[in-house]
Amino acid sequence: MNSIAGIELGGTKTVVVRGRPGAIAAREEFPTTTPEETLSRAIATIRGWRDSAPMDAIGVASFGPIRVERTAADFGIMLDTPKPGWAGADVAGTLAAALDLPLGLDTDVNAAALAEHRFGAARDCPTSAYITVGTGVGVGVVVNGAAVHGLMHPEVGHVRLRRAAGDHFAGACPFHGDCIEGLLSGPALAARFGRHPATVAPGDPAWDPVARDLAELLAMLLLTLSAQRIVVGGGVSNRQPHLLPAAIARMPDLLGGYLRDCTPEALTRICVPPVLGDDAGPMGALVVGAGRL
Ligand code: ADP
Ligand code: ZN
Repeated sequence: MNSIAGIELGGTKTVVVRGRPGAIAAREEFPTTTPEETLSRAIATIRGWRDSAPMDAIGVASFGPIRVERTAADFGIMLDTPKPGWAGADVAGTLAAALDLPLGLDTDVNAAALAEHRFGAARDCPTSAYITVGTGVGVGVVVNGAAVHGLMHPEVGHVRLRRAAGDHFAGACPFHGDCIEGLLSGPALAARFGRHPATVAPGDPAWDPVARDLAELLAMLLLTLSAQRIVVGGGVSNRQPHLLPAAIARMPDLLGGYLRDCTPEALTRICVPPVLGDDAGPMGALVVGAGRL
C-alpha cells in the first residue's frame, strides 16, 4: 500500500495528513473558511505530497450533517449545516474530481470512533461509541467494527433526555433547546453558567447538573447500543477531567440496578477518556480512506 491522504474537515479547523492507518507521516492545519478556499487548500497540500510519492486513496472525516451513503444522488454533499456557506457544498465531488483518487467519506465523529476502535481506547471492543463534547456534541458509533450509517448517520447529540431535578436552564440548541448538545456543548455551558466554562472551578456545584446530563447520555448509549466502551473526548471533557468521573458516579442510580455488568468499577473501564487525542479525527480519515482500497 502506498500512502493515503486524510482530511479532517472540522467546524473551525481543517487537518490534512499523509500516512497509513495507525501512522501519520505528515500533517498540515489551517482554519476552515469557505468551502472553495478550504477544499482548494486541502487539494494543493495533497497534490504537493503526491508529486514526491504516489498515493492510493483519500479519506475524509467531515463535520455534518453530510450525506455519507455512497449510493445516494447527493453523496458527499453537505446537508443543512448551520455553518455559513457550507450547506449544499459538494465536498466529495470537488475532492474526487481534483485528485482523481478513490475517496472514502464519513463523519468526523464516526471517523474518530473508528480510530479509537482500531488504535486507541476502544481496541478489542467491536461495539463502541465516541462522544465529543466541544463546540457541539457529536457521537460516533461503531458496531461490529464498522461505523454506523443508515438513514443518514447517528445524530445522538440532538436526543432529548430526562433533565436533572431542579435544573431549569432552557438549553442552547437552535433546533431543540435542551437536547444533549443544547445542555452540554461549550457554548451551552457558557450560556448556562453566564461565563466561560474554563472559569468555573471543578468543585463548583454548577457542574452538578452537567455531570448528571452526561451520565444520562452515557446510560442511554449503554442501554441502546450495549456499547462495550464509550470514549469521551472533545474540548470540554478533555479540559474538565473531573466531569467524566462525576458522571460515572451518577450512573448506577440512573441505571437503577439494571445492566448487571455495569458495576461502578466496570463503568470506570467502560466510560473512558480518548487515547489518540487530536489525532483521532485525522487517523480516522486514514482508516476511512484505506477502506476504499
Ligand atoms: P471543536 O468541537 O470545534 O472541535 P473542541 O473540541 O476543542 O472544538 O471544543 C471547543 C469547546 O471547548 C469550546 O466551546 C470551548 O468553550 C470549550 N472549552 C475550551 N476550554 C475549556 C475549558 N477549560 N473548560 C471547559 N470548556 C472549554
Ligand atoms: Zn439539538
